[in-house]
Amino acid sequence: MAASILNSLTRPMVSPNLNYSICRYACASSKDPCGIYDLVIVGGGIVGCATAREMLSRHPNLKMVIVEKESALAKHQTGHNSGVVHAGIYYKPGSMKAKLCVEGLKLSYDYFCKNDIPHKKIGKLIVAQSPQQAKMIDTLFERGTKNNVPDLQLVEKDCISNYEPKCRGERAIWSPWTGIVDWSVVCKHFAEDFQKMGGEIFLNYEVNGFAEMVESTGSRELVPIVVQSKHKCIATKYVLTCGGLYSDRLAVMTGCDVNPRIVPFRGEYLLLDPSKRHLCTTNIYPVPEPRLPFLGVHFTPRMNGEIWLGPNAVLALAREGYKWSNINIKDCIEMAMFPGLYKLAFKYFIPGMTEVIKSIFYPLAVKDLQKFIPEVTYKDVKRGPAGVRAQALDKNGNLVDDFIFDNGTGSIGSRVLHCRNAPSPAATSSLAIAKHISDKMDEDFKF
Ligand SMILES: Cc1cc2nc3c(=O)[nH]c(=O)nc-3n(C[C@H](O)[C@H](O)[C@H](O)COP(=O)(O)OP(=O)(O)OC[C@H]3O[C@@H](n4cnc5c(N)ncnc54)[C@H](O)[C@@H]3O)c2cc1C
Repeated sequence: MAASILNSLTRPMVSPNLNYSICRYACASSKDPCGIYDLVIVGGGIVGCATAREMLSRHPNLKMVIVEKESALAKHQTGHNSGVVHAGIYYKPGSMKAKLCVEGLKLSYDYFCKNDIPHKKIGKLIVAQSPQQAKMIDTLFERGTKNNVPDLQLVEKDCISNYEPKCRGERAIWSPWTGIVDWSVVCKHFAEDFQKMGGEIFLNYEVNGFAEMVESTGSRELVPIVVQSKHKCIATKYVLTCGGLYSDRLAVMTGCDVNPRIVPFRGEYLLLDPSKRHLCTTNIYPVPEPRLPFLGVHFTPRMNGEIWLGPNAVLALAREGYKWSNINIKDCIEMAMFPGLYKLAFKYFIPGMTEVIKSIFYPLAVKDLQKFIPEVTYKDVKRGPAGVRAQALDKNGNLVDDFIFDNGTGSIGSRVLHCRNAPSPAATSSLAIAKHISDKMDEDFKF
């Protein structure tokens, strides 16, 4: 992708009250040398890219840029997930999550078809393994129906094998609209659309502060916001942040409350041996534990033919902690000083420790998988990749389940919108989230 990179900008760190001339210089490699942007979007994940695309298609004259700290887009949650196109069954009826997922599902399939994005509508079985779970199937079915999930079916025990021949269970739900796709490919398509409409993308641009620009004359008539990075800055009228694992830190930069905080939860996958791939042709999910926001370890076919088993949920020791050995001292100290995390650990001590044990001794996780497909043995699996979820947690230890938007304080804060929580299924919902955020920006920022 021909993304612009601000490599040439190597000015010294700028102070919060920037001199206008410094900013004019610092912006010198952009398309319009002295121009002030209308909107800067921080974060080149799927939420940032989808929203950038939506805003520029609504307002083609806006001067916009996406800034991303990595050397490529979609390097974090968007590029490390299960790759499932969710149908919207689980979410509380009436919640934004439910509404945006079902809307996002339809928009996503339309977009994939129009843009020739490889995807497969392979469906999904949610399978109960006990009489108690079998009762919960009814509750889930009711939820899905209330959420307008298309074409859900209840499947009795003896018919489960009609949908997945090797799968066993007490009862199930069949969701024919659930599918698979590579969300990082979709994100890059959104970014390309944005660039074709004239949008810019600056990679290697890590935002570390926002400031009000003060002209050297001292006049405050024109007061753009300066989006600062090490040695670089951009002047803009408005900002949207979609920072995923760093969304709380970006929000604090404009005076927002530090809560909810982001606590990183790693989701590790196992890989099924290629000789056993025939055992799984659809997505197979357990009935989720109602108190947890994670959907449980599932069987997921990938677009490249692999079968991923997972993800589990273990506390990561760094915001970008994709392995146990990734430890970030600052992140660990921050977590250690956060009372919400202790309260969460207290509530979920036993399931949490069980996940850690299964993460270390991964063949133990195979027992859970065998309940669904008895033919899978521990010899058929090996460690696979991992993703890190940006889990928002309040100070009372409650997991925040729905999307959260926040503004900061003061004159900068009112012109900066933060998307503080975009949990799963935000990839599926991304086109609908983009519309929702764009409506909000149109209203708040009067574009
Ligand atoms: C293990 C796992 C499985 C999942 N499975 C699914 C699934 O099957 N289906 C589904 O729909 N959803 C799934 N999700 C959820 C989905 O992946 C995320 O909700 C979605 O990708 C969030 O997108 P985002 O743009 O908000 O965040 P991200 O993709 O994390 O993007 C945020 C971006 O902001 C950048 N950034 C952060 N701070 C700064 C800064 N200071 N300056 C500049 N840039 C910055 C980061 O580098 C990053 O690129 C899963 C998530 C995980 C972790």
